[in-house]
Amino acid sequence: MTAFKRPHIEQPPVLPMTRKEMDKLGWDELDILLVTGDGYVDHPSFGAALLGRWLVHHGYRVGVVGQPRWDAPDDVTRMGRPTLFAGVTGGSLDSMLAHYTAFRKKRSDDAYTPGGQAGARPNRACIAYTNVVQRAFPGLPVILGGIEASLRRISHYDFWSDSVRRSVLLDSKAMAITYGMAENSIVALADAIREAEDRSIKALRPVLVNIPGLVVAGARKDIPEDASVLELPSHEAIQADPQELIKATLLLERQVHQNKQVVVQETAGRVVILTPPGEQLQTEGLDELAGLPFSRLQHPSYTERIPSADMILASVTTHRGCAGGCSFCTLALHQGRQIRSRSKKSVLKEVERMTEVKGWTGSISDVGGPSANMWGAHCASDQSKCKRSSCLTPAICKHYKVAQSDFVNLLRSVSDVQSVKHVRVASGWRIDLALTDMRSLSCLIQEFVGGQAKVAPEHQVNHVLKLMRKPGFEAFEKFLNLFDKESKKAGKRQYVIPYLMSAFPGCTDEDMHALGDWLRSQGWKPEQVQCFIPLPGSAAAAMFHAETDMDGKPIYVAKSDAARLRQHGILMPTRGRPQKGKGKGKPQRSGKPSGANRPARDDKPFNSSNPKKGGPNKKRSSRSKPHNKKRY
Ligand code: SF4
Repeated sequence: MTAFKRPHIEQPPVLPMTRKEMDKLGWDELDILLVTGDGYVDHPSFGAALLGRWLVHHGYRVGVVGQPRWDAPDDVTRMGRPTLFAGVTGGSLDSMLAHYTAFRKKRSDDAYTPGGQAGARPNRACIAYTNVVQRAFPGLPVILGGIEASLRRISHYDFWSDSVRRSVLLDSKAMAITYGMAENSIVALADAIREAEDRSIKALRPVLVNIPGLVVAGARKDIPEDASVLELPSHEAIQADPQELIKATLLLERQVHQNKQVVVQETAGRVVILTPPGEQLQTEGLDELAGLPFSRLQHPSYTERIPSADMILASVTTHRGCAGGCSFCTLALHQGRQIRSRSKKSVLKEVERMTEVKGWTGSISDVGGPSANMWGAHCASDQSKCKRSSCLTPAICKHYKVAQSDFVNLLRSVSDVQSVKHVRVASGWRIDLALTDMRSLSCLIQEFVGGQAKVAPEHQVNHVLKLMRKPGFEAFEKFLNLFDKESKKAGKRQYVIPYLMSAFPGCTDEDMHALGDWLRSQGWKPEQVQCFIPLPGSAAAAMFHAETDMDGKPIYVAKSDAARLRQHGILMPTRGRPQKGKGKGKPQRSGKPSGANRPARDDKPFNSSNPKKGGPNKKRSSRSKPHNKKRY
């Protein structure tokens, strides 16, 4: 509880990006400035909008700077020095993943930028933005958050520099990181900073190490006395021995899942302290959050469309978390494996509001979450004692409870909302869960596929699937048969879009040939396959670096670009080859943003944006065209 009463602040039409907008709101200063590597879209799928509106809801005046210059302070000073702190995020993707392909070539586009162009955010955005904020406002606390900071919170393998990097907190010199889903921690942090007379890290550290969901640097004496401490291998030990990275990664996964220990990692004589994730928003909190008046549109000052804003305009997120724990994916490390679901009432309310947004087409493009058919799932046991790294593999845990029929009923209720003509589930489905209830699966296939079902077998060879923590391939084959049967029954021409991956640790060229043979036997010719990218913080990245499985047993790893290309080329003979003179060697920091990518700041009225129909990322419809995807 705070010692002060938070003021009530009216939610603005959109969070301000300029002084002029602040004046219209009657705000003479900001309490918190959010700096993000994305363009600002006032939609709950974007971290800056989500946390910004949540903080306003809790009595703080918040402004947003999207994709500022990082070589000069002009953009971040536009609205003046905030009274409390600046929150910095690299954006919806790790900035290195946003900039470079699996073959370390520069990407030419960025779906989170106006006009969809690349180059509007720096490499290692958390570090670059923290530096520019600290130059602009000396002494102002800077708090990191979002996917880049969250997954780089301890020592991690960095694919783009082929090295083990220390916690990004130390490299950035920010005051703290809020890791994972930060609604509770950021409000507690704002309260703590507001109450403090001395806002230096020295004075605030004893308070911060008691707020859940934070990373703070200090010394051993700063660890709370009553804490149950989980000591990770030191950064230096991990640099010296790749097996220590596997150990640290698995320990961190468990700490997030069990949610009770303080993690400690020593780095060059300093100590990085991670408080436990703490209480996350459950149904009531998620409903409250979703009920805030997001306009769902990109900020009206932008003169070009932000592709991702169009993609998510008609989609609804029903829950957070993923129980799968796939080793290549970092979602569970960020959102957790526990599923937190919104209520049906809240989902339907959001859909009703969507039908009132200018440009409404009658179609809901997606109702789902990280894995669509986990809505309402829960663990019937004591998660704080659970030692499994996945609730679903090697077999579905007997304590894992989810009613697939509830999800179908939710979709049917969404369809019944007035002026909704089509409802589709575009999020990926978890096949092993779907197969536990054939009747519900039939309904899903017949009523809510909308032409394409995205499923992620990832591979066909079971020893590779095991390393991925995915279900055996038989589940996918069973699903395919049912899919064809039910689609025919419904008289619909529908396709399965299988996500496939090459060059995963443990996957040999023979394994890729086996996958290729299987695809040919089905008459499938993939157009896109994801070449494995070792994402910071993931168990698969640790295996890639160590060249062993998680038990320390040596495995083959296609590590060089040549070996990765060779594997990729088995399925994609002409794709992924570096162009002459392009993208060779280590990626360079990309300098200042290109002027063409900068959003115009013309202080237009708030209601001027009208989304175009469709957008540049329309999905293709062919059973033989597996999609590429970026994962977090
Ligand atoms: S006990 Fe089972 S269902 Fe519960 S968290 Fe552990 S693996 Fe998941």
